[in-house]
This record gives sequence, C-alpha cells and structure tokens, in this order.
Amino acid sequence: MLSKKNLLILPGDGIGPEVMRQVYCIIEWITKHRTITFNLSESLVGGAAYDKEGNSISDKTMQDALNSDAVLFGAVGGPKWDNVERHKRPEAALLRLRKEMDLFANLRPAIVFDALVDSSSLKPDLVRGLDILILRELTSGVYFGEPRGIQTIDNNEKKAVDTQSYTTSEIERLAKVGFDLARKRDKKITSVEKANVMETGKFWRETITNLHQKGYDDIKLDHMYADNCAMQLIRNPKQFDIIITDNLFGDILSDCAAMLTGSLGMLPSASLGSIDEKGKRYGMYEPVHGSAPDIAGQDKANPLAMIMSFAMMLKYSFNMDEESLLIETAVKNVLQKGYRTPDIGEDSAKILSTTEMGKVVITELDIITGK
Ligand code: NAD
Repeated sequence: MLSKKNLLILPGDGIGPEVMRQVYCIIEWITKHRTITFNLSESLVGGAAYDKEGNSISDKTMQDALNSDAVLFGAVGGPKWDNVERHKRPEAALLRLRKEMDLFANLRPAIVFDALVDSSSLKPDLVRGLDILILRELTSGVYFGEPRGIQTIDNNEKKAVDTQSYTTSEIERLAKVGFDLARKRDKKITSVEKANVMETGKFWRETITNLHQKGYDDIKLDHMYADNCAMQLIRNPKQFDIIITDNLFGDILSDCAAMLTGSLGMLPSASLGSIDEKGKRYGMYEPVHGSAPDIAGQDKANPLAMIMSFAMMLKYSFNMDEESLLIETAVKNVLQKGYRTPDIGEDSAKILSTTEMGKVVITELDIITGK
C-alpha cells in the first residue's frame, strides 16, 4: 500500500535553501521508485521568516511542525540578523521547535567514509571505518536548569549561576532510545558523565544502571567520565559504538567526534521526541553545519549532510531502513568515484557544484537500483 507522509520543509537562510533543493530531487526520486509519497509543505524560518513575518518562526509554522510527520530543517542565521533582539533571532526558531516538539534525543553519527579518510585530523588507521553515534540529551541539563542568571552580591561583587539538573524520567527516556538503537547496531553503549565530582553525574550513572538491569542487559553498558571520553575519542575512537550523555557534555563531545570525520558538510543529525499513544514520534532532521554566509548563493555548498539527514528521517521517522541505506550507499559511491564539493575537494578530485553533486547522487541511485 502507498503510504503518505506529511513533511514540513524549513530551508532557512544562507546555504539552507541551496542544500534543501537537492533533497527535493531525492524526494522526487524516492516517490517515483518507492511505495511512499510525501505531502510537502514549505515555510520560512530563521532570518528569512523574521524579514517577512517579523519573527524567526511564526505560530502557524510551529503548528504545522506539530501536525507534520517529520520536519526537515536546513540552516538559519547570518550577519544580517546579528543585532536582532534575542528572542526573535534566527536561532530562537530552532530552540522553539526543539522545545515545543519536545525533541529530547539528539542523534549525531560520526562516520568516516573510506574515500575521505585523509580529511580527518587523525591518522587514517585510527579513523578508517569509524561509525559511531553520539546520543545527546537536548532539552534539559545546565542549558535550561533554574536558577540561572547574574546577580550582584556583597561589596558590589557579581555572581553568575547556572544549574545542572536531571530527573529520573529525563534520563530514562533518553536511555531507552539509546538501548533501542544499540539493539539495531553493535549492542554496545558507553554512558558518559562526571560521577566522580557531580551529583547529577552520580545520579545519571545510577539511573542508567538501574534501567539497564530492567530489561536491557543484552546490551553491553560501560561508564566513562566525560574528560576521559574526550581523550579516548582522540586516542582510539573506534572503541565506541554509541555514546550517551547529557546536554553539556554531548554538545562538546559531538563536535569533537564530528572533527574526526574532517568535514562539516558531511554531518547529518536527527532530533527525536517521545512516541505518543498513537505511535507517532516527533522528529526533526538537519545538517550539523550552519548557514555558511561566506559561500551562500554561490552553488558551492556540500549538500551531502542535508541529503544524509533526509536518509536519517526515512530510517528513524518512517522505518524505511532499506531506502535510507540506499541513499547512504549512493553517497558513499559518489565519494568513492572521486566526486567532491570544494570543502572536501582534493587536487585530483572532480570538483562539483551543489547542484551537480545532487545530480550525481541521483544518477548513482539509478545505477544501484538498475533504473
Ligand atoms: P557554519 O557551519 O555556517 O560555517 C562554518 C564554515 O564551514 C564556513 O567556512 C562554511 O563555509 C563551511 N561550511 C559549513 N557548511 C558547509 C557546507 N555544507 N558545505 C561547504 N562548506 C560548509 O558556521 P558559522 O560560520 O559559525 O555560522 C554561520 C551562521 O550559521 C551563524 O549565523 C550561526 O549562528 C549559524 N548556525 C546555524 C546553525 C543551524 O541552523 N543549525 C548551526 C550552526 C551555526
């Protein structure tokens, strides 16, 4: 049976619309050749929405996101909006989407494609074949905890406070996502905190250990302190499969893991919410990179992170593992054939524009499936 999914597309600013255009081509290919069709709607977000609608995300767009089966997000921001008041700034749209869709689980894969092994800052042997996943808690922890603020105390001295806090349910719902993902991968997960010096770290470790004993003991669970994890990611990243961690450590460690792959233009991400009583799970999919104002409008941006974010959407929102793998394989093959955008280009490579890179991925999909 043909299934129909409602997709909200938010291209955003800078290179966002340019890389999203290539996803439209992939969507066209998928609907032509597979048993899925999409109800596509597109809205403004970020600076583009601020200019036209007076805010970085309108209430209507927010409601459309809540009504959709998944959201595809490009990138927002740029110098033009640097002086806009904080709550209307382009990045505020992203925070509102995450908050109102309650996207608490952020998945950031760090995969090193064989063809790009030399782009890593580490020696090729350390990263060849690397395929790890950082699972970061996204809606709680020190970025949201209260009290927070800067206050004047005695003798005109000032004091700044941020509060790190986690509840049992916040940790457990993330851990369940992690254990479920581990069952589809290497059945191995490393939980990361600072249980040696932080109460939340001790609590995080206890909570994950308790949950592990209640039905997930087929998964190998290790614990690691965050500082050691940062070192191990550089020393021997292939020891990990899934790293599960809080908002702050996840922010830092996922950027660290990203750099093992060598290129910002190659990194997709997914942010997931809970599954509701009707079986629906909110999901938003976006590349890790920003709006790249320095190359915007030049047809130079690498669209592969955006295309792989779409592949993650097929897998995590629609259980279309086969189609997701097909797109990943097409990306792997075009890289193997030497095609590059300038950001990952080498002297001898075939340097392509954004549009051309989208086209070779489509051609590769045809080749793989014999169309
Ligand atoms: P950036 O990711 O936009 O760019 C950093 C560097 O990487 C630039 O040199 C850029 O040209 C390059 N780059 C990024 N993506 C690329 C791609 N797909 N192909 C080729 N090269 C690519 O980060 P920045 O320069 O720090 O930020 C620019 C704007 O983007 C800022 O306004 C920032 O707030 C915003 N931003 C938005 C998001 C988001 O929407 N999720 C994330 C990060 C930054």
